[in-house]
Amino acid sequence: MQFEFIPARKTTVSKQEILDDLRNTAKKLDKETITQKEYRDNGSYDDTTVSRKFGTWNQALKAAGLQFSNETNISDERLFNNLLNLWEHLGRQPRRSDLTNDISEFSQSPYNRRFQTWTNALQNFVAWANDEELIAPENKVDIKKKTGRDPSLRLRFKVLQRDSFTCKQCGASPAKDPSIELHLDHIVPWSKGGETSYENLQTLCSKCNLGKSNL
Ligand SMILES: [Zn+2]
Repeated sequence: MQFEFIPARKTTVSKQEILDDLRNTAKKLDKETITQKEYRDNGSYDDTTVSRKFGTWNQALKAAGLQFSNETNISDERLFNNLLNLWEHLGRQPRRSDLTNDISEFSQSPYNRRFQTWTNALQNFVAWANDEELIAPENKVDIKKKTGRDPSLRLRFKVLQRDSFTCKQCGASPAKDPSIELHLDHIVPWSKGGETSYENLQTLCSKCNLGKSNL
């Protein structure tokens, strides 16, 4: 019987090695961002390894300091939805610098492309969210119920704004404690006929919301 020495394959690659390689590859291609395909063809590691290490491809690009969204023609709805998520998560009006936050799906570029300035982006979002005519009940489900379970983006924003992005029960706010997560709660449960309406929704933190559902 013969023994053969098999060198251990280097299976682990550090985040730092990946980041360096991403930057070098982008530099080599003379680009501010690279797609997964470009990286597959020009980089040293597997693009799926990169995504896995950082959660998503965009997170890896962001960590490398590269532009992380080369998507064009992103709908206003998606740009606004991202703003609302940030607003909800932070408990205050987002700043341009918050776009580098992990929870932001987009960088500055798509907002600049679409709205030129950050102020303009926020103004457009607020005007759009506050457009009364568009808050009418949507998602008709059946005759008994007028509204679907999930509030529209506008309705979510209106309720959160009315409640000052603060838990109605305990007063917790992500503005003071970033670990606080806000939820919209049906005061009369949706399953018991409560509507998804401005009047029947309130802002609760995840703790109070959980406490309520356990009652
Ligand atoms: Zn609470």
